Amino acid sequence: TESSEKHEFQAEVNRLMDIIINSLYTDKQVFLRELISNAADALEKARFHSVQDETFLGDTKDLEVKIEHDADAKTISIIDTGVGMSKADLINNLGTVAKSGTTNFLEAMAEGGDANLIGQFGVGFYSAFLVADKVSVTSKCNDDPVQHVWESSADASFTVVDDPRGNTLGRGTRVTLHLKEDAHDYLSEDKLKESAKKYSQFIQYPIYVKVKKEVDVEADEDDDDDKDDEDEEKKDDVETKDEEEKEEEDKKPKKKTVFEWEQVNTQKAIWLRAKEDVTEEEYNEFYKSISKDYLDPLAYTHFNAEGEIEFKSILFLPKKAPFDMMDNYWTKKSEVKLFVRRVLVAEKFDELLPRYLNFVRGVVDSDDLPLNVSREQLQQNKIMKVISKKLVRKVLELMKKLAKDEESGGDDEDEEGEDKEKEEEEKKEKKDEEGLWTKFWKEFNKNLKMGCYEDDSNRSKLSKLLRFFTTKSDGKEISLDKYLDRMQESQESIYYMSGDSIETMKKAPALQIFMKKDLEVLMLPDHLDEPCLQKLADYEGKKFVSIQKADVKLDETEEEKKKFNKIKDMYKPLTDWWKKKLTDLTESGAMKEAGVKVEKVEVSKRLTESPVVVVTSQFGYSAQQEKVMKSTPT
Ligand code: ADP
Ligand code: MG
Repeated sequence: TESSEKHEFQAEVNRLMDIIINSLYTDKQVFLRELISNAADALEKARFHSVQDETFLGDTKDLEVKIEHDADAKTISIIDTGVGMSKADLINNLGTVAKSGTTNFLEAMAEGGDANLIGQFGVGFYSAFLVADKVSVTSKCNDDPVQHVWESSADASFTVVDDPRGNTLGRGTRVTLHLKEDAHDYLSEDKLKESAKKYSQFIQYPIYVKVKKEVDVEADEDDDDDKDDEDEEKKDDVETKDEEEKEEEDKKPKKKTVFEWEQVNTQKAIWLRAKEDVTEEEYNEFYKSISKDYLDPLAYTHFNAEGEIEFKSILFLPKKAPFDMMDNYWTKKSEVKLFVRRVLVAEKFDELLPRYLNFVRGVVDSDDLPLNVSREQLQQNKIMKVISKKLVRKVLELMKKLAKDEESGGDDEDEEGEDKEKEEEEKKEKKDEEGLWTKFWKEFNKNLKMGCYEDDSNRSKLSKLLRFFTTKSDGKEISLDKYLDRMQESQESIYYMSGDSIETMKKAPALQIFMKKDLEVLMLPDHLDEPCLQKLADYEGKKFVSIQKADVKLDETEEEKKKFNKIKDMYKPLTDWWKKKLTDLTESGAMKEAGVKVEKVEVSKRLTESPVVVVTSQFGYSAQQEKVMKSTPT
């Protein structure tokens, strides 16, 4: 047609579509999850607008999703009454503007990743091409007077036309998939219903699948009178069928085929239910539905906060860190969804949880906030501060529990009797396996270290969750409590060192005396470790002391002290001479440029094998920190 415009997909999107259309081993079902989730997002936006502006919904008041199939045309369609897309939206959102996730998804796929992950990368729409070789998207939004059709056969281009049928949708989007041969099983009502049910359980809007029904013509005629009894009637039909089957066959009443919209989800908000009534499976599915994660969560907490402010909440810890977690650390917002009386008011909201907990997923539902509250008002809201504080406490409690369960090997001392045997067995299994906390720590340790650095009011709680390698930890990371447990009696400090790797640290001359004296030393290969310890300053009254800085005090007897002072005096001419020589050296050339300064030269108590060691002053940065700072662009 004349109004038809042809557009090229952005190159990365093209590659992505190639991969998807040719992917053989992926669970193709996920296309429905992604399209339902897009529909739900669009409905959520429509509801959000309608709260701010009463006229927004206009004539299209029902917020819902409908799914239908056409066996002859070999298509299925997902229709929503969400915000819809303007012509520009269709062009930008579905093809030409590169999303940050596209490249990352391609990388993950190149590394053998599973296309199941697609939703996490923000490119879920293209999963339509897992089952379709042609996709049409018809959309109408309030901002655009014209309804448009976007269409692509995954051939590097797509078209956008003004819809010749006019504005048939009112408001919303219809995605029609022309199914590939190997996806024709979705043309079965049962298959469609089953898949739709699976992915719509926790969606807050009704989701309908169009089903065919055979009805008696007579029964149908007086249908109008008793619509409410429909369900009961159906039951009766089923029960009586067996007995009457023979007679029925003779009579053969006239049947008529009708189509009905059958709702496949229940829409009851899971967080409103009592904990005891929600199954593990339901929590897992709920998590997946809000997080776009394809894995179960690692742990969750479901609670009702009572007192000055009441709210209900479920919070989840994911198993895996998102691919862009640290890249987006400073800009990423908390993804805990904020509801007010069951209505979503904010999806990503940075005031809800501090930055370092931005990986936590979940929902908060409060009755105490006004429904049409603006973002600015929320930011200043006192209630929000209280909610946030409680959420942080709950998340930290959950983490503490994971860490504690792991330390005690899942032990439950109070329990006795029958369960004991089973428990023993479970414990054995657990030993071989990595504990939950270790798993969590591997994924999210950087966040907790940042938290330790940033969160003044929770630093001490966070410090109990930290794990470090040490000279005695045998390649594992241990808690500071464990370090304290095996400290020597006279030991006053917690010793640490930092470096690029455990291997280089093990070779450091500064470590020799500690090895000789059998003192345990934390080894910190991560550049976030040291700032975190410096903020802490001490743990349970024991100071953190870098063994790479001057003035490390090792506990010693009076006799040792006297002996040492004598040696010091004896070597004074040498150390004086050396200091002068070094100072001269640093006053010109490369040393000067690098800003190297010699503070002092002294006889050391710390070396056993190496003849000399260069150390930094106690109050300055450690050598490792300087290295990190020089390599970090500012
Ligand atoms: P994501 O949902 O993570 O943003 P998708 O690839 O699934 O990524 O969708 C891309 C974009 O297309 C969405 O962000 C949205 O703007 C738009 N979109 C997709 N489906 C719909 C829909 N049913 N209604 C309105 N907009 C949609
Ligand atoms: Mg999506």
